[in-house]
Order: sequence, then C-alpha cells, then structure tokens
Amino acid sequence: MYPFTLERPQSTADAARLASAGGRPLAGGQTLLASMKLRLTQADQLIDLSSIKDLSGICRDGNAVVIGAMTRHADVAGHAEVQSLIPALADLAGHIGDRQVRAMGTLGGSVANNDPAACYPSAVLALGATVHTNSRKIAADDFFKGMFATALAEGELITAISFPIPQRAAYMKFKQAASRFAMVGVFVAQFPTGVRVAVTGASSDGVFRHKGLEQALSASFTAQAAAAVKIDVAGLNEDIHGSAAYRANLISVQTQRAVAKALG
Ligand SMILES: Cc1cc2nc3c(=O)[nH]c(=O)nc-3n(C[C@H](O)[C@H](O)[C@H](O)COP(=O)(O)OP(=O)(O)OC[C@H]3O[C@@H](n4cnc5c(N)ncnc54)[C@H](O)[C@@H]3O)c2cc1C
Repeated sequence: MYPFTLERPQSTADAARLASAGGRPLAGGQTLLASMKLRLTQADQLIDLSSIKDLSGICRDGNAVVIGAMTRHADVAGHAEVQSLIPALADLAGHIGDRQVRAMGTLGGSVANNDPAACYPSAVLALGATVHTNSRKIAADDFFKGMFATALAEGELITAISFPIPQRAAYMKFKQAASRFAMVGVFVAQFPTGVRVAVTGASSDGVFRHKGLEQALSASFTAQAAAAVKIDVAGLNEDIHGSAAYRANLISVQTQRAVAKALG
C-alpha cells in the first residue's frame, strides 16, 4: 500500500469539498482497499463516508424507494419495506458475495465502481432508477458508461438512489463459483409502461439493457416469450469461465427464470 491520509467528515458538504480537492471516497472498502493493498490504485487521501448520517438509510418517497449511498447490502436485504415493495431488490442484495461483503459493502460504492459483473447496476438500470449526487440527479440510462466507468464527474459523490416501485420484478444470478459475482445476472422489471431488462456479467462493457427481450416481454410477460428471443453473441465475453455462446444461452435461461420468479 502506498501512504495516504484519512479524513472522516461528518457532513456531505464537507465530504464533497474534500472530494473536489482530490480526495477519494471510501465506502465499505470492499473494492477500494483491496486494490490499494495490491497497489493497483493509489489515493493520497481517503474520505471515509461512514460517519455521515444522511448517507445511510431507506425511505419511501411516493412511488419510489430511496436508499442512501452508504446503506450496506445486509441492511437493504433485511429491510421490511424493501422486502415488501421491491422484493427483487432485497433478494439481490441478500445474495451479494458473502456475509462479510454484505456487512461492509454499500449501494453507492457498488454503483460508483460499476464492476461489469456487479449485481446492483442491473437493478438500477432495469428499475429505471435515479442516481442522486451532491450536485444533480442522473437517470440510470445515462449513468453507466462501460467497464468501471460512470457519468460521475471527478469528485462527485453519490448520495442516494431512488428506485421506482415496479408491478413485478425479479433478479436471477448465475454465479461465478469462486467470486460469487454474476457470470450472468438478469434483472427483469414490469411497469405499466412496459418491461425493462438489464443484463450484468455478460459483457466487458458492463451492464446493458436488452431491447429484444424488453419488446417481447412488454407484449407478453411470460417465460415462453423470453425463450423465443434469439440472443446475439456479438459483444459478449469469451473467457476461461465460458464462451460467448454459453453466456448468450445464460441470458435467455436467466431471463426465463426471472420472469417465472416474478410471476410467482
Ligand atoms: C469477495 C467479494 C465478493 C463480492 N461479490 C459481489 C457480488 O456477488 N455482487 C456484487 O454486486 N458485488 C459483489 N462484490 C462487490 C461489493 O458488493 C461492494 O459493493 C463493492 O466491492 C464496492 O465496495 P464498497 O461499497 O465497500 O465501496 P468501496 O470499495 O469503498 O469503493 C468503491 C469505489 O466507489 C467509490 N465510491 C464509494 N462510495 C462512493 C460514493 N458515495 N460516491 C462516489 N464514489 C464512491 C470509491 O472511491 C471507489 O472508487 C463483492 C466483493 C468482494 C470483495
């Protein structure tokens, strides 16, 4: 690890001031500290966000559930209102990594990091969520910009994410056995305006919406309709864990399973 200083601000405004001066936000450290230990990342100053009360917590706001950036995965998974209003989101959070990762990892850290195999970005995109930062609101469709890249400007902090409550939704993850990240994960969400489908893990460009599946499922929300959609292998990952064709098949199968699960 390279040397660094640590700040622990008590307010979002103070954290934002430190971040705009070049400090690096530290959430649960589940990605950041590991990459610093390996000297893959260097930060001269870490800004520990854990003392900022406004950044944690969950509340309902009209037809949406708003979750603070520093809310831990275990707290989302165990929250009664998330379980009843968007059970797919509680279920997703409850199957991230292991107990230690869920106890420390945060919504904001996961979404800011935008790992191409992370689970939360698929929920943000499929639910058409809005990412709140210290300076603006960013629609999910404009937020994810490819592997480990987002629309966040240098020094911009995620403060919360607002998730619209769907009619039905489900997330199905086919785990990479060693890491428990998604080899392929599919989040399906049905709204009165149509169905949104987001796929994670399958492409090195990160999470993406699948328009063919969305059209088919908006016309008929059934596993059969999903099965009839041909999944193009172009752009899908090929690596030691699976070929592009294998991943394409997983997208189809996991979507069918997600629809069946959403239908109950
Ligand atoms: C063993 C293991 C298994 C895992 N399995 C899964 C899995 O199955 N599914 C899954 O989705 N994820 C998985 N993860 C990732 C985990 O869910 C964490 O959310 C992720 O590692 C980010 O960690 P963190 O929240 O502690 O953020 P940190 O590591 O503290 O930060 C990550 C990045 O986000 C930035 N950042 C943090 N908070 C903010 C903010 N509020 N605003 C702006 N930038 C911010 C940091 O500067 C840093 O660049 C796994 C991680 C591990 C170590």
